[in-house]
Amino acid sequence: MSHQKESPDQRIGVILPVPVGQVYDYLVPSSLKACPGNIVTVEFGRQKLQGLVWHEEREADISVSKLKYISDVIPDISFSPENLRFLKWAASYTMAPLGAILKMMVSVPNIFTPLKRPRLQLSPLGDPDINFSTRVFNPQQKEAIAFIKNQISKGYSVTLLDGITGSGKTEVYLDVLSECLAKEQQALILLPQIALAPQIADRFEKRFGVSPTLWHSSLTQSQRRISWKRICSGQAKVVIGARSSLFLPYAHLGMIVVDEEHDHAYKQEEGIIYQGRDLAVARAYLGQIPCILASATPSLETVYNCETGRYHRIRLESRYGVAQFPVVSLVDLRERTRQKEGKYWISTPLAIRLEETVAVGEQALIYLNRRGYAPLTLCRACGERLQCPYCSAWLVDHRKYGRFLCHYCGHGVNLATTCQKCGAEDALVACGPGVERIVEEIAARFPSFRTAMISSDTVEDADAMAHIAAKINNHDIDVIIGTQMIAKGHHFPDLTLVGVIDADLGLSGGDLRASEKTYQLLHQVAGRAGREQKPGHVYLQTYTPDHPVLASLISGDRDAFMSQEMEARKRGNMPPFARLASLIFSSFHRENVEATARAFMRCAPRAPDILVLGPAPAPLSIIRGKHRWRILLRTPRTLSIQSVIRHWMKQVKIPSSVKVKIDIDPYSFL
Ligand code: ADP
Ligand code: ZN
Repeated sequence: MSHQKESPDQRIGVILPVPVGQVYDYLVPSSLKACPGNIVTVEFGRQKLQGLVWHEEREADISVSKLKYISDVIPDISFSPENLRFLKWAASYTMAPLGAILKMMVSVPNIFTPLKRPRLQLSPLGDPDINFSTRVFNPQQKEAIAFIKNQISKGYSVTLLDGITGSGKTEVYLDVLSECLAKEQQALILLPQIALAPQIADRFEKRFGVSPTLWHSSLTQSQRRISWKRICSGQAKVVIGARSSLFLPYAHLGMIVVDEEHDHAYKQEEGIIYQGRDLAVARAYLGQIPCILASATPSLETVYNCETGRYHRIRLESRYGVAQFPVVSLVDLRERTRQKEGKYWISTPLAIRLEETVAVGEQALIYLNRRGYAPLTLCRACGERLQCPYCSAWLVDHRKYGRFLCHYCGHGVNLATTCQKCGAEDALVACGPGVERIVEEIAARFPSFRTAMISSDTVEDADAMAHIAAKINNHDIDVIIGTQMIAKGHHFPDLTLVGVIDADLGLSGGDLRASEKTYQLLHQVAGRAGREQKPGHVYLQTYTPDHPVLASLISGDRDAFMSQEMEARKRGNMPPFARLASLIFSSFHRENVEATARAFMRCAPRAPDILVLGPAPAPLSIIRGKHRWRILLRTPRTLSIQSVIRHWMKQVKIPSSVKVKIDIDPYSFL
């Protein structure tokens, strides 16, 4: 380069979208001007990359003579100071490098390279012709709307919209968007599962006459590109997206809605580990804007924040119109087993009700949160259980694919009837049901029923979900057999019966949220029944009819269950009363992983209010051939758990063969 040394070139810090990247120094030639938030093109190693100009002062630890010049500044794109603040905060909270967060913010290939052919202009959204047709709201809905609209002018606030399924939470939050849009600001609606997006988008369109901008992983590259540019330029007024849409560089975000805030799908478990709902609240705080959390079964964390006065809480206590929450009954499977009624997965009371329901032209949902045909296959001759060679997990029988599959690594082998171990023929037996097996049973017992199986194996994306939902609404389906994919959000007017094959699934196991999670899920599934005029009925099949989770579903006393759960967490000093983090060590070398975990333990932080558990092999001790060990750290809420870990990590040398994953506020303990 021909720039003269003596020219007072500006020295800037640039973050590059590379997974390890921190801040790199570059010079700006006097012909260019680069401000924080600008995107600049730089040489990095042998590549040309676009990076973000950072706002902080840089320590001059590299001499100017070693620095390279930026080669260009991308016109018309600039990240607001708020986006930079969020980037910094998210990196620090998740303990990920800045570059890894930036990578998520610009996660569209070649987003900064101008297109050769300009695209057609999209239908403008948020133009004055947006039609805020309103509705007739009931008094509680009115009160909720007035309250939230009032919050919008006040900067940061978090409001829990706590209302039973069908009480009109969606109607309420759609209505308050108008206030945000009137201020020329953008609104983000987060959904736990993107299969729900078309439904909400459709309601939005019907109500306001324009379509929202969508953001999720099944968009094509060119759709992503268009959405990204619209969001970044401020053209997109309403964005509906999955958790990753939190990271987009909004031009001026004015409010965030987190629908089904309790949903564990907000927790990202791979790559950068984060809890989308918590990040949404943080983003609202950094931008001084309101955040609405909506749920019929709020998380204990959120309820705790309401009780301690951090969040507001508004209740919607009745279903809109005439609909009532369905009647819930238990089917005691212990009784049935005693009466040797064990031939079928669908018990007699449920089967009778199923027949009655279909006979009068109504629809039923049979719920079982298990993909495939059977979760376990064993050999009758030698007792061998079919296991994944790369993971400590059983292989799941998937008849639909003709394969036994591992749900952790995807390893599969063709279905067989001969035992690989002892060679016995026709000796392999399927144990326990998955949804495919329920479909088979219904076909055998009720051959005239038209069924649809809904699981991630049959419904792969939002379009497929919309297609099947249309069939259900059109009455081409009598019985839906589904996993948790169907539990959420869907609204089928004539669905009046829900049967839960195994209400105990998820109640056992070492997960601190097991009860809470099961309660939320069962409540949500139950809420699928009787959403309009016709009353709904729910049958829960169980071996533990006295379990508090089931008892509270029967009595309908959610708050009693919640306060019991809250008490238990308090007694155990568990979240939300304390903070947790997991350190997960993994490696192909068993000895190295164990040695590293033990080395960490030797340097563990010692203080009376800090608890360190482990190290121990993870319950899933091998995944994809990698051995895994875990340490669990608990600190008081008043302490920054990240600082404790940062300090800790400095004391231990981690061999290159071992990976250490840090999970702040873990939801999975496997
Ligand atoms: P939630 O989000 O709490 O489950 P929804 O907003 O989906 O509830 O409302 C449930 C049903 O009741 C939907 O069909 C919705 O259109 C209808 N509904 C709720 N409130 C109103 C209202 N004020 N006017 C008309 N329909 C309403
Ligand atoms: Zn596997």
